[in-house]
Amino acid sequence: MLGGKPLLRHSLETFCRQPAIDHVHVVIAEGEERRFREISADLPLLPPSFGGRTRQESGYLGLQAVKSLNPAKVLIHDAARPFVSDDIVSGVLFKLSSRAGAVPALPVTETLKFAPERLIKSTVDRNDLWSAQTPQGFDYEAILQAHQKAHAEGLNSFTDDAAVAEWAGLQVAIVPGDPQNIKITSFDDLVSANERMMQRSHSQFPDFRTGMGYDVHAFESGDHVVLCGVKIAHTARLKGHSDADVALHALTDAILGTIGEGDIGTHFPATDEKWRGADSAHFLAHACRLLSERGGKIANVDITIVCETPKLAPHMARMRERLQSMLKLSPDRIGIKATTNERLGFIGRSEGIAAYATATIRLP
Ligand code: MG
Repeated sequence: MLGGKPLLRHSLETFCRQPAIDHVHVVIAEGEERRFREISADLPLLPPSFGGRTRQESGYLGLQAVKSLNPAKVLIHDAARPFVSDDIVSGVLFKLSSRAGAVPALPVTETLKFAPERLIKSTVDRNDLWSAQTPQGFDYEAILQAHQKAHAEGLNSFTDDAAVAEWAGLQVAIVPGDPQNIKITSFDDLVSANERMMQRSHSQFPDFRTGMGYDVHAFESGDHVVLCGVKIAHTARLKGHSDADVALHALTDAILGTIGEGDIGTHFPATDEKWRGADSAHFLAHACRLLSERGGKIANVDITIVCETPKLAPHMARMRERLQSMLKLSPDRIGIKATTNERLGFIGRSEGIAAYATATIRLP
């Protein structure tokens, strides 16, 4: 998910709105048909076809799949580049009026070292070096034949279509790429792409949401409790499948609540032996990841722990520190409070500890 939409959908919307493009065809993996339909049912796409084992093979199969349409030109795009702009698309298409191929690319700005076995031998002249992006455009017949030829000769490790075209001797021109047209490869790329989407998104109607969580665990015999990830010596411990960190459980539920993702038990069933004695920081991290996959960010969290014993005041600073490092939030966005129950009810009788949490988040 990027900015609340599946990554693939960003490119599809861009291509579908180009007046110069007649058809958009997607090459998918086998078994992804249903997910693909869910993502794209409302878009004017050709039925998808299946890809192969390599980038090159998938490209070739995609080209074959549209043969009956008899296309004059084709753009081949990597859906991992969701920021492809209208300008890049029209730049590539324009160049195809005079060349068999056109590829958006950026000049290499870093100094390049040739270093076999990690010892620098020389500095590579970067003047003629470019880093290639997509969509890569071609004369349809020319690129189909190039692929056919590569396939027939058993070559299968070309990493982009331009490489197949070069090998086949086609003239492929460079057109200006866009530094924003990044390829999302790592989870960090996705996080920073989401941040960028968020900055772009209208400040008029920011999508603020609040979730709440409540949890309670009973005491049983033991010698410490875990609260907000901090081990606190006590005359009893909290009973539970995991480390029974009642505060982190409430907080995890609050965060899951902001994005309609059920509760902690949905994701980590108590029947699953895997989570016996588990560090609840893991549950919290999972909820945070689901949130950041949607481009969301926590605005603040607020936790109230209710118990007669142990006394929590001496541990507040450490609990806050732990939360700060788990949530990667500044201290002013984290509230932790402790209160007794004035000796009333089950908590008043020191039979356990309860925790309430709220989380406020922002989504693009
Ligand atoms: Mg719990």
